[in-house]
Amino acid sequence: MKGYVLDTSVLYYGKDLPSGYELVITPGVVNELDKEDMGTRLELLLATRIRVSSPSERSLKRIEAEAERTGDSRRLSQTDREILALALDLGYELITDDYSIQNIAKVMGIPCRGLDQRGITEVFEWQAKCRGCGKLFPADVRVCDVCGSETKTKRKRRS
Ligand SMILES: [Zn+2]
Repeated sequence: MKGYVLDTSVLYYGKDLPSGYELVITPGVVNELDKEDMGTRLELLLATRIRVSSPSERSLKRIEAEAERTGDSRRLSQTDREILALALDLGYELITDDYSIQNIAKVMGIPCRGLDQRGITEVFEWQAKCRGCGKLFPADVRVCDVCGSETKTKRKRRS
């Protein structure tokens, strides 16, 4: 069966989750969603469509080694590593907008694609946050002008 491994940002925008496929996330994604007050939505998704699974140690080590080699290691969170390793384990396509994740996926031959950002802005307000220093930018900014780190997209908090 074909399926997809999803990263945290993908689940904010669940409207267009691929239908008819198995959808899998890791325990780290569950934790991140809990922190973002997405617990209720998460429960619904888990009850209906999404399975939680942990990657193998072997795949995690392969991801780690590759990330060290490409220089993405510092930009990858533990959750990022988990979803990459899980995609490797299952042979599923990875859906993420994170550039470092996409980079490692490409290098390791893991099928990977991003979400349509224009679609996202119609539903939620998004912004980009620097993974290094935490500076906030408009959602389409990919590299921080202060520290040069890549940004990740996050849902804008109401002030
Ligand atoms: Zn920065």
